[in-house]
Amino acid sequence: PQPNPQAGAAVKAADRAHVFHSWSAQELIDPLAVAGAEGSYFWDYDGNRYLDFTSGLVYTNIGYQHPKVVAAIQEQAGRLTTFAPAFAIESRSEAARLIAERTPGDLDKIFFTNGGADAIEHAVRMARLHTGRAKVLTAYRSYHGGTHQAVNMTGDPRRWASDSASAGVVHFWAPFLYRSRFYAETEEQECARALEHLETTVAFEGPGTVAAIVLETIPGTAGIMVPPPGYLAGVREICDKYGIVFVLDEVMAGFGRTGTWFAADAFDVVPDLMTFAKGVNSGYVPLGGVAISGAIAETFARRPYPGGLTYSGHPLACAAAVATIGVMAEEGVVENAARLGASVVEPGLTALAERHPSVGEVRGMGMFWALELVRDRETREPLVPYNATGEANAPMAAFGAAAKKHGLWPFINMSRTHVVPPCNVTEAELKEGLAALDAALTVADEYTV
Ligand code: PLP
Repeated sequence: PQPNPQAGAAVKAADRAHVFHSWSAQELIDPLAVAGAEGSYFWDYDGNRYLDFTSGLVYTNIGYQHPKVVAAIQEQAGRLTTFAPAFAIESRSEAARLIAERTPGDLDKIFFTNGGADAIEHAVRMARLHTGRAKVLTAYRSYHGGTHQAVNMTGDPRRWASDSASAGVVHFWAPFLYRSRFYAETEEQECARALEHLETTVAFEGPGTVAAIVLETIPGTAGIMVPPPGYLAGVREICDKYGIVFVLDEVMAGFGRTGTWFAADAFDVVPDLMTFAKGVNSGYVPLGGVAISGAIAETFARRPYPGGLTYSGHPLACAAAVATIGVMAEEGVVENAARLGASVVEPGLTALAERHPSVGEVRGMGMFWALELVRDRETREPLVPYNATGEANAPMAAFGAAAKKHGLWPFINMSRTHVVPPCNVTEAELKEGLAALDAALTVADEYTV
């Protein structure tokens, strides 16, 4: 595409004048004006092209502008752009069927929402009504969304401004050996002690007060901490023992990201409710939802479910989901994530860790990887302090700027960079991105002790 700086300047000026951006001090941000995107790349108006190792906010699992999905959206728009949720509509029925066929166990009914946060809101409401209990247990180092209930469940600084006792949330520590809260030295210890901590938390909160335990199957934004073998099965057991609803949040980890359709498949665990969004249609049209077990669906078989949304199961969003799931199946996108994750990303990142003292740990699976950057490998002191801003965040800012200079748009959260490209990324694109990361990590190395 031809550069057009003048058009870019107009886009930027209107943005700066009128767009109020998420999670930001409005005058301290400098959003890039984006002219277009295709596959794993996007470009600005000045002729700069970037390889997108963020998949947007980890949702373009089939990349940008997949022609089959664009065509399906156009076709649906021409036929029936919208219709109210109380009716049976072809694209809605078909999307629900395709999702239910892929979700684990007996999660066979789908309640559609507009995104991830409202999926969490509804999962919690279902759990509360199903159990007649109020409290929700969630993990520190988690993100569940920006609405009242979901942000209160979140275990990162984005919650602090909205903390509210009325959300009825209690936080606990999930396993994370690299920064163990349990003085563990092995995955087995970490797993056993994290389960003991969770069960004790349930006991002291009062088992009869806990409606749900909600976990990201693999925590995403908080750092891609793959749970140790046995942990999720152990949480399932605790939930069964005390009659607690087990909710897995697969908004980020679902739809191929981990190299399986759902992350739960990799751990052979079946929750009672599972939330999804993002990858369900690669985010081409807003869509999320809750997959519901037989027992919980039964609770609302003869009693109305007190919840809904104008756009629940929006035909355009559902047509995009049908097409996306079709593309993923036909083009082996899930298999691609598993194969290239194991054959290219894992060895590539491991080699970077060997060369760069700023890399403390490499972890992940599929197309879902994190590099934990540290000032000191021995003490594991993070490259920047928790929740650092301004000057204190300079090392991560320098790392990010270096990656962009080398044509890579990196995902950065606190002292981590995540490698989360589209699940249909090619081997050549991954190698290009790994080379850019190599150069950017050389900059991060300058801040190590
Ligand atoms: N849950 C998880 C695990 C997420 O990663 C996110 C978003 O990043 C959400 C929920 C919230 O989704 P949304 O931003 O679509 O409301």
